[in-house]
Amino acid sequence: MYEYFKKMYKEDSKKLFSLLEDNLKTNKKTFIVTANPETFSHGKDEEFNKLLLDDITTIIPDGIGLVKAAKMLDINVKERIPGIDISVKLLEFLNKYSKKLYIFGSKQEVIDQMKVIIQTKYPNIDLVGMTNGYVKDKDLVMKQIKKLNPDVVMVALGVPAQEKLIYKHIMEFDKGIFIGVGGSFDVLSGSKKRAPKLFIKLNLEWLYRICREPSRFKRFYKNNIKFIFKIKKLKKQNK
Ligand code: UDP
Repeated sequence: MYEYFKKMYKEDSKKLFSLLEDNLKTNKKTFIVTANPETFSHGKDEEFNKLLLDDITTIIPDGIGLVKAAKMLDINVKERIPGIDISVKLLEFLNKYSKKLYIFGSKQEVIDQMKVIIQTKYPNIDLVGMTNGYVKDKDLVMKQIKKLNPDVVMVALGVPAQEKLIYKHIMEFDKGIFIGVGGSFDVLSGSKKRAPKLFIKLNLEWLYRICREPSRFKRFYKNNIKFIFKIKKLKKQNK
């Protein structure tokens, strides 16, 4: 797991956004993984481990747990960068440069609403297509997306499915910024509420999500307890 921390993006959000804007303008293929402790726990899967360590991948610290753990390991990570903020920035850049977007994942009513929001708030975006995340043959969808040559592909299937699907196909594409956005469409479409600003500021967005959806608790607890033990062990080894 130490390698993930070493590879993790360490600058602030401003720098990241300007990097993404450049990559969009220059058609530089990019794969963004917005990570929290749960994401790293999937590293036990060989394919997921490979995708995290691949040069094409930029690991972003989305969870505050990762920023704190990095500090414990004497790795200087400037700040938490929420995945949803990255999605919003990408929408802004796509609009600014009139570029092509494909959205894949979430329920049909959610992406229908996303379409309305894109058309009204980001009218210059060329939304070349969208597919809900409950279709059977997701590889086929990726092949269809490739033909449309989008500049940004947002995939909302949850961790680890979204990352694995992107990684399986990314080499077939000539360009594109690829990002697994988890529940971002649910929030951007208004189907789910994002935490109030105070929660975000205090880095307690995770707590808000658990309170709204108690079914998340077991998953959260399991992953985070294991994570804390692993970090403590790593810290000892590093000494
Ligand atoms: N989802 C999907 N197909 C599936 C399972 C999930 O499209 O087979 C969508 C779901 O509708 C939601 C997103 O994937 O919009 C997962 O959101 P969540 O907040 O659970 O993401 P995570 O916490 O796993 O990043």
